[in-house]
Amino acid sequence: PDLSVDVVTIFPEYLAPLRESLLGRAIARGQVRVDVHDLRTWTTDVHRTVDDTPYGGGPGMVMLAEPWGQALDSIAPPERPDQPRLIVPTPTGRPFTQAVAAELAATPWLLFACGRYEGIDSRVTEYAARRMVVDEISLGDYVLCGGEVAVLVVMEAVARLIPGVLGNAASAAEDSFTAAVDGLLEGPVYTKPASWRGLAVPDVLLSGHHGRIAEWRREQSVRRTRSRRPDLLDPDGPA
Ligand code: SAM
Repeated sequence: PDLSVDVVTIFPEYLAPLRESLLGRAIARGQVRVDVHDLRTWTTDVHRTVDDTPYGGGPGMVMLAEPWGQALDSIAPPERPDQPRLIVPTPTGRPFTQAVAAELAATPWLLFACGRYEGIDSRVTEYAARRMVVDEISLGDYVLCGGEVAVLVVMEAVARLIPGVLGNAASAAEDSFTAAVDGLLEGPVYTKPASWRGLAVPDVLLSGHHGRIAEWRREQSVRRTRSRRPDLLDPDGPA
């Protein structure tokens, strides 16, 4: 496969949508391999415990290091020369963007560690970093209950960048945030009919004049970005 993906979670059923749609077809073609693992496989006690109370006190529970250590060693044995990139979804990670998606799409093997509760014992990423690249990634400035939906989001964004996964490769190249729009938002789009419930499609789009259409799209892209995401126009300005 072009891309191998392992996901470790205590809710394997949560990842079922990975097998739908474009990614599902890429798996069926053998272009992508996806294996979802239940973290509890690597517990040894009768209750299959994966969490304990936090050192230092405070509310909630923390995921135990040992089942994660076992999971990493079993999926990516330390003696293997090729190692995955470990992706750990966490609100404390670097923000997930289209640029990060492109980076991950060019990585042959991704191993996702889905946290729950108050997260995973910090020594797990420290241990993994001895032999693999560790990438802590945040979907945005809000807190989810677990890393599972983050994996679905990341994998959907990554999959459509793998050559041959999207029916029309050109469509991904011209999306918002890509170089084709200078990293800005894409402007409005329209389809038939030219007039609908009294609302007309902008004339320029019906003109057949490619130069003017490109210029109009550029203007719309800048205008939309200025009103909704000024941070994209001035990446060095205040966040
Ligand atoms: N105590 C952690 C903190 O304040 O940073 C939050 C833990 S959260 C309740 C449980 C899990 O959800 C995290 O370990 C992570 O896997 C996932 N998660 C929550 N918010 C996320 C976000 N914005 N991006 C990616 N993963 C997130």
